[in-house]
Amino acid sequence: MPKTSKYIFITGGVLSSLGKGIASSSIGLLLRQRGFSVTIQKLDPYINVDPGTMNPYQHGEVFVTDDGAETDLDLGHYERFLDVNMSRANTATAGQVYYDVIMRERQGEYLGKTVQVVPHITDEIKRRMRALDGKYDIIISEIGGTVGDIESLPFLEACRQLRHEVGRGNALDVHLTYVPYIKSAGELKTKPTQHSVKTLMEFGITPDILLCRSEMKLDNDIRAKIALFCNVEQRSVIEALDAETIYEVPMMFAKHELDQIVCEKLHLKRSKLSMETWTRFVHRIKAPKHSVTIGFVGKYNKYPDSYKSIIEALIHAGAINNARVNIRWIDSEDVTNDNAAEMLDGVDGILVAPGFGHRGIEGKIAAIKHVRTHDIPFFGICLGMQCAVIEYARNVAGLPLANSSEFKKNKFSVIDLLPEQRNITTKGGTMRLGAYPCKLEPKTKAFAAYKSEHISERHRHRYEFNNEFRELLTGTGLRISGSSPNGELVEVVEVPQHPWFVGVQFHPELKSRAVTGHPLFVAFIKATVRHAAEAAE
Ligand code: GLN
Repeated sequence: MPKTSKYIFITGGVLSSLGKGIASSSIGLLLRQRGFSVTIQKLDPYINVDPGTMNPYQHGEVFVTDDGAETDLDLGHYERFLDVNMSRANTATAGQVYYDVIMRERQGEYLGKTVQVVPHITDEIKRRMRALDGKYDIIISEIGGTVGDIESLPFLEACRQLRHEVGRGNALDVHLTYVPYIKSAGELKTKPTQHSVKTLMEFGITPDILLCRSEMKLDNDIRAKIALFCNVEQRSVIEALDAETIYEVPMMFAKHELDQIVCEKLHLKRSKLSMETWTRFVHRIKAPKHSVTIGFVGKYNKYPDSYKSIIEALIHAGAINNARVNIRWIDSEDVTNDNAAEMLDGVDGILVAPGFGHRGIEGKIAAIKHVRTHDIPFFGICLGMQCAVIEYARNVAGLPLANSSEFKKNKFSVIDLLPEQRNITTKGGTMRLGAYPCKLEPKTKAFAAYKSEHISERHRHRYEFNNEFRELLTGTGLRISGSSPNGELVEVVEVPQHPWFVGVQFHPELKSRAVTGHPLFVAFIKATVRHAAEAAE
């Protein structure tokens, strides 16, 4: 166990969406593959306390950790790349920081002093940055937003101070920037990068390494120019070209010896970089043998970031099955019993997505009915599982009015709040969040996938399978293949005679990791490969 950790601060410049999360994860992976223990922290300068209540259109998926923190989707990348569990300590927002400081002020902890951004807010940011100190060899802190944003100022100041405190050789600043190619001039332009670094320097931060996102290769002249004007060694000006898959980014960085440069600057004793397994994984993503088409039935289809972890889990499972997974986005609001066959024509399986609110529910149910009755593989996640239960109740168990009390309150709420939840009204207050244990029944599809009786999966939902209907539904053939250890909460349902029909109350996508994937996604894709082969016969 290391005594103190080394710090890497990652900031972004010029514009957002350059892939800071992927860059942070890639650096983390390279250091891990050199034998160091690494974790990554996301510091978000927005005022929301957490992204739990933010609109998925704006903010993408909410990633949930084992300890039930609702976090930024970048934490998903960190877990998938590093294969390390993140926790509440891996995330901080300006909202949380200010909230804590104001609470302390109200309790009189500042003894009548004026409470200010510097030092009180910056101290609280540093306290959070240091919360994992000593537990890892290296802590990477990714600062959300773009340098120059008003909100990010206290965060940059905290990075500057922390670097000063831990001293030379113990901290490093990496800046992700953009080098655009201007077609009419036929040239790459370095000015935006120069400006961004200049802004960073105004806050007392001189970057050690520049990662330059670009569509074109950076030749030596351009790198020399950036190095000169930005005060960075030439070999530390590293191009970050668009990659075919995000999982290739660490390999591209390794080619430019980024890991070696980091180790030298942080005085880390280097062991050899081992990337063989990772490289094989990337190769299978890029050149697989099979190809399958998954119908993705959801409502945020124009914003794939809302389903980030599911998409990545499908990619992992595809690589493991040597299959390219093509996603056909199907807007659940467009599906009806009449057009389901047409809309799902040619798919090798469907995945019905999680979600909140009634919009698109009937379409999801129509799609599920079609695949259940046509032996097409089905994977339902959270709301997807709840819709599968409703569909089964309506069309097999003889309850045509069956529904979830989230959408319609009647006597046939096969999905409902637990009795103790019914009187709570605050947002977020009643959610089942984070990891819960689940016991699987032998001789089921779920058990065959996990090859284990005891599993743990993450949750983020309010409603549950209503046990009042358990007898009726299981009596008409629905199999409950997973439940909470006391048997009270239904976690997995299946249709036994079907080739692969599995619905889960939890979010398995949150635990899918690069290279190893997730057992249920792997089994689902395997079933779709089989379906595709049969369809081709
Ligand atoms: N809206 C459903 C619930 O709250 C499902 C949530 C989800 O899919 N994450 O139970």
